[in-house]
Amino acid sequence: MSNAQYDPNNVFARILRGEIPAERVCDSKHSFAFYDISPAAPVHILVVPRGAYTDFHDFTSRASNDEILDFWKLVDKISAEHSLIHHGFRIISNIGPDSGQEVPHFHIHMLGGKALGPLLS
Ligand code: IMP
Repeated sequence: MSNAQYDPNNVFARILRGEIPAERVCDSKHSFAFYDISPAAPVHILVVPRGAYTDFHDFTSRASNDEILDFWKLVDKISAEHSLIHHGFRIISNIGPDSGQEVPHFHIHMLGGKALGPLLS
């Protein structure tokens, strides 16, 4: 997806603008983390950049180094503060149609809190 296709009214853009509520986990200068509304594991956190990026490729190719570092540092901070790092956890990002990406604003899923089993079971 290119940024020309970015939908400014996607649900995560609306959460970032405070137009619809979300259960905040933590945030940083360029990034925001909140709980998934339909959790697939005991801990299911979504992390998004504040900027308008459709997916991982769009984020990685257009975001500044500051934004990219801020994003992954927040992911690492969450993994420590929510004890995910101690037992292990999974990061997933759906990218484009074949992945089933539902929300066209780049995000990662942080899943943990139990033994997750094989990825493609
Ligand atoms: P995707 O398939 O990777 O795009 O995942 C989108 C995720 O966003 C799904 O896991 C949904 O449960 C989650 N989601 C959709 N709307 C909301 C919301 O309003 N708040 C929190 N999570 C949401």
